[in-house]
Amino acid sequence: MTLENILFPEIIDTPESILQKYPKRPEGKVVTRIAPSPTWFLHIWAVYSAMLDKIVAHKNNWIFFLRIEDTDQKREVEGAAKKYVEILKKFWLEFDEWPIWPNGEDVGKYGPYTQSQREYIYKVFIKDLVKKGLAYPCFLTEEEITATREIQEASKVPTGIYKEYSPWRYASFEDIQKALSEKKEFVVRLKSSWELTKKIEVEDLIKWKISTQENFLDIVICKSSGIPTYHFAHLIDDHLMGTTHVIRWDEWFASVPLHYELFHMMDWEVPKYAHYGPLVKIDGDSRRKLSKRKDAEADVEFYFQNGYFIEAILDFLSNILNAWFEDWRKQNLEASYLDFDFKLERINSAWALVDMDKLTFVNAAYIKNLPIEKLYEALGEYLQTFEEGFYENVFLKAEKKYNIAILIELKTRLTTLKEFIALTWFFYNDFEMNEERKSLLINPKMKIENLDIVKKWLQLALDILSAKNNDFENIEEIKNIFVEEIKNAEMKNWQVLWPVRVALSGEEFSPGALELIFILGREKSIQRIKKVLNFI
Ligand code: GLU
Repeated sequence: MTLENILFPEIIDTPESILQKYPKRPEGKVVTRIAPSPTWFLHIWAVYSAMLDKIVAHKNNWIFFLRIEDTDQKREVEGAAKKYVEILKKFWLEFDEWPIWPNGEDVGKYGPYTQSQREYIYKVFIKDLVKKGLAYPCFLTEEEITATREIQEASKVPTGIYKEYSPWRYASFEDIQKALSEKKEFVVRLKSSWELTKKIEVEDLIKWKISTQENFLDIVICKSSGIPTYHFAHLIDDHLMGTTHVIRWDEWFASVPLHYELFHMMDWEVPKYAHYGPLVKIDGDSRRKLSKRKDAEADVEFYFQNGYFIEAILDFLSNILNAWFEDWRKQNLEASYLDFDFKLERINSAWALVDMDKLTFVNAAYIKNLPIEKLYEALGEYLQTFEEGFYENVFLKAEKKYNIAILIELKTRLTTLKEFIALTWFFYNDFEMNEERKSLLINPKMKIENLDIVKKWLQLALDILSAKNNDFENIEEIKNIFVEEIKNAEMKNWQVLWPVRVALSGEEFSPGALELIFILGREKSIQRIKKVLNFI
């Protein structure tokens, strides 16, 4: 029996028979994919990356697909893959081809799109490489690998398993048979034919051309569990699935020489590579990668929980991709980000800065431009999902007209939906006076130096409000009356209105006194001012 048949007796297909099942994609079309690993939550990276892939595919009007890289089953989280699709859908990042869970049929003819279902396919190619002498089983133990590394370090040569440092590369058929009969564990390694001393030029659509060292390592292509490594799965999947542009984290950039060797070895066309910098944040004086463990904003859910709009997140990420997106957006308020002329070569290859202040700014601008009915609807959905108690017991119980009046007032100041409750609690709740609130009534900068002055202006407001016997039609009406009376008292508007505003809101910052009177209504305003007057 031949070596490849001893190693892979169950594999009966040949590369040719597999290749036949994956017809070449039409010439000149662009095919991109995202290939996440389904480990716990959805990192904002996945959205960023999917956007980029979608942009590149969409610009060329062709295929954007999803492949689930679940070969690391120890780290896999149940249901994570399905969640990916659901969440990306919220961002309108839909795929042309994708896997369906748990056992439904995939959408697309180039599947299965889940790596754990492709083991047989990988093995067909591994078997063939062994047959051709381009790969070999390696029985080195962890201890032997460590010992090799120590020897290499001592003699100052590059570390790793290659050429003369790989005994199984030169092992005889008998030696291999013996190791197999002893049931020794083995991996399959690539028999690299490239040279340590040679350089190759790799091309990258973001990083441009880089001259770098060839791969010379006999890397593992199939683990002892029979599952291929990322490198090998990338080679097989992206070739069979017809990916033309591999757009991925730059942590994979160091592997490009190896991937070039793999594609050359198969005599397959090398896809175009584009490596973008990792998402980073500012931490003290330096930047560091956004960490799943440390940074709440790494998780996509964080953005939903904190009341950011999908549209704002997409704009924010677009702006990270190409900085002049912002200017374009100002001219094209209604357009989809997909209409913007993104340039891959202008993406920062070193890092992509996630600046939450910037996102909040973009979100606030989005809120400001949103028609009030839409904002009201989004707020309702947000509260229902994340603030159920408030939604049921307060928001729904108030009149829609009242909620809308508050929202209109707040629209220019609201930066996220999450802020709504904190900024509006006093519209929905009466509050007790206390010393802290009392101290807010005094404001020496506005010449309100003591409580006597406070009392005087609160009384003036009370008199104005009491003199009227119905509610106000609009803010203008309130304004006219107050301005007139304040003028008569020979005061400045802000002097009188400061304590009135504090008495109505109980807050240091809030909408203006006149707006508060308009929204709260005459009666409630009178009640609150009286309560404060009684307290001080
Ligand atoms: N599963 C790989 C990762 O999560 C995908 C890299 C790629 O896009 O090829 O990093």
